[in-house]
Amino acid sequence: MSTIAFIGLGNMGGGMAANLVKGGHIVHAFDLAEAALAKAAEAGCKPFTTVKEAVAGVDAVVSMLPNGKIVQAVYENDVIGHAPAGALLLDCSTIDVATARAVAAAATAKGYPMVDAPVSGGIAAANGGTLTFMVGGPDDAFKAAEPILAKMGKAVIHAGAAGAGQAVKICNNMLLGASMVATCEAFALAEKLGLDLQTFYDISSVSSGQNWSMTSYCPVPGVGPSSPADRGYEGGFASALMLKDLKLAMEAAQGANAAVPMGAAAESFYQILTSAGEGGKDFSNIINMLRGK
Ligand code: NAD
Repeated sequence: MSTIAFIGLGNMGGGMAANLVKGGHIVHAFDLAEAALAKAAEAGCKPFTTVKEAVAGVDAVVSMLPNGKIVQAVYENDVIGHAPAGALLLDCSTIDVATARAVAAAATAKGYPMVDAPVSGGIAAANGGTLTFMVGGPDDAFKAAEPILAKMGKAVIHAGAAGAGQAVKICNNMLLGASMVATCEAFALAEKLGLDLQTFYDISSVSSGQNWSMTSYCPVPGVGPSSPADRGYEGGFASALMLKDLKLAMEAAQGANAAVPMGAAAESFYQILTSAGEGGKDFSNIINMLRGK
């Protein structure tokens, strides 16, 4: 089984690296945080103290890092030219499309096949190996990446050329952010109009207003299937992370001269919530902001 370097062992990367170990790979681990590295060692990874040492002799490199600036610095300074020639590079972080394309171009120019492979699914899916990967890159790189990603997820989908994985991710999350705000608005208005919220759900969920934010992730406690609303808006997908993805979508839209007024409105809502110190709670908590609570 192949040897893989894993860079960035935080909330998401820790579980993903552990699943590669369970899948039979030798995993070289690196993170700036000692606690994250120690946890990865407990899960069976081999800890290293620099990226350059971690990538020496590996067949592939997987990264799960906070942002594009860090991804670019790690790959351009410490991976490209230090991992063996031809090693497959897989960046699973959520970053901007332009940086994903720039890093892939730098890697390809030096003979490293590379894919951007951001994920849908949170910490529970990372731990459970049930992430969905949306992958950008050439066909042969996708084919090589697929069996590695399959060890960490339930679905691996080829989205197109370099950067296409990030493009799908931010378009999807912009749609999700806007639909969650709209769903919360509808419930808050229904409440003010004196409707019973379960009754509103029963009717709207089988009418034309039906959408995922309502029927799979209802923002109202006690209505619909179990969701973070039933747990005090803890766990789930944090508003600060939704804000990050909406900012990436706005940046991409500006670069592509695309009109995204609903996405921009959703960004403002999540900015207000995060600035008010509520960024750690689930993104469905926007309903309490709309209720003035
Ligand atoms: P995190 O902050 O928990 O983990 C990031 C890790 O990267 C940290 O352990 C940090 O020490 C490490 N790191 C930072 N700079 C580094 C460097 N130069 N070299 C090595 N390690 C470095 O974040 P996370 O929640 O695991 O998110 C990681 C990525 O996954 C982000 O791009 C995020 O947008 C994306 N994502 C997160 C979720 C989620 O629910 N948390 C869901 C989907 C996608």
